[in-house]
Amino acid sequence: MTDPIEPFAVEANPSPVDPAARAAILADPGFGKSFTDHMVSIRYRAGQGWYDARVMPRGPVLLDPATSGLHYAQQIFEGMKAYRTPDGSAALFRPAANAARFRASAKRMAMAELPDALFLESVRALVRADRDWIPPAAGSALYLRPFMYASEVFLGVKPATEYHYLVIASPAGPYFKGGAPAISIWVSQDYSRAAPGGTGAAKCGGNYAASLIAQAESIAEGCDQVVFLDARECRYVEELGGMNLFFVFDDNRIVTPPLTGTILPGITRDSILTLAADMGLQVEERAYAIDEWQADAASGHLRETLACGTAAVVTPVGAVRGRDLDFRIGNGGPGDVTSALRDRLVAIQRGEAPDPHGWVERVD
Ligand SMILES: *Cc1c(COP(=O)(O)O)cnc(C)c1O
Repeated sequence: MTDPIEPFAVEANPSPVDPAARAAILADPGFGKSFTDHMVSIRYRAGQGWYDARVMPRGPVLLDPATSGLHYAQQIFEGMKAYRTPDGSAALFRPAANAARFRASAKRMAMAELPDALFLESVRALVRADRDWIPPAAGSALYLRPFMYASEVFLGVKPATEYHYLVIASPAGPYFKGGAPAISIWVSQDYSRAAPGGTGAAKCGGNYAASLIAQAESIAEGCDQVVFLDARECRYVEELGGMNLFFVFDDNRIVTPPLTGTILPGITRDSILTLAADMGLQVEERAYAIDEWQADAASGHLRETLACGTAAVVTPVGAVRGRDLDFRIGNGGPGDVTSALRDRLVAIQRGEAPDPHGWVERVD
């Protein structure tokens, strides 16, 4: 079979989680710790193409110890959410953007590029199978995790000829627990996340592996998240381990670092650029240095800083610390622009507000 678009073979889980247990999970899902009854699996082999597309009971994957993805980290992923709409149906937010980014990540990692139609149908098929797993509460959603690894059994170093693509789903509540008004971030001055020519713009597990020591340092310093500077000059603010940044000024401007290849092109970032312009803000994609950040926060010219991504949506940054650095932003809590952008985005995602940009796709 080559490039099957639909329908996927569907094998229903013979022993799904019982409804009472599921309801208990959905009432307080946490993040990334509970999973639905099904998953999607598609295989790829060079010369044959994509084959064996199915929705099947969620379960372990048996791997040969010489599976090349375990050794050379040809691995990529996506993160997206299915939302419960007011009429009780399910909706995806800009899924075509995830499909395109998944292909771009595959290309950078020299992996097979899953056709967009197959990506989109895989996500829809899983949402249909597990639609009862979308948590109803505002602030909650069904987090979808498409991912792919090199499955060829071979220890030679080269792009693999076989890949395994899967989608799993996990009911998710707010990413940051405890309802803290704003997060604090630690500036990594010893570790870089991404360098020019590297893999910073690809959504690959390796980027996260490289960021974890800095994230651990940030926790040890009493902060919530780490922010990375550019690898060349250690001066320009890039992004957090898994979220993009925006800076809000007192003169109606909002600034975010440009996509130079070392920053992950967030779909939330792109959406906020559009919504900010809709709200009449002057939007700028430009390099912003750590010393400017500190000076602008001290002078009050910088009013707000926000971090954004699918998992945590829009989160205010209240304080920044590092070696020889310690400054507060605004009043240390959520600012007006951050709250307005967040509310607008969430209302569109949940189908509670008009969708002028055609971002929301219903799954029937
Ligand atoms: C996924 C991710 C983001 C956010 O992207 P969204 O599409 O908004 O979820 C930002 N930075 C990194 C490093 C990421 O992996």
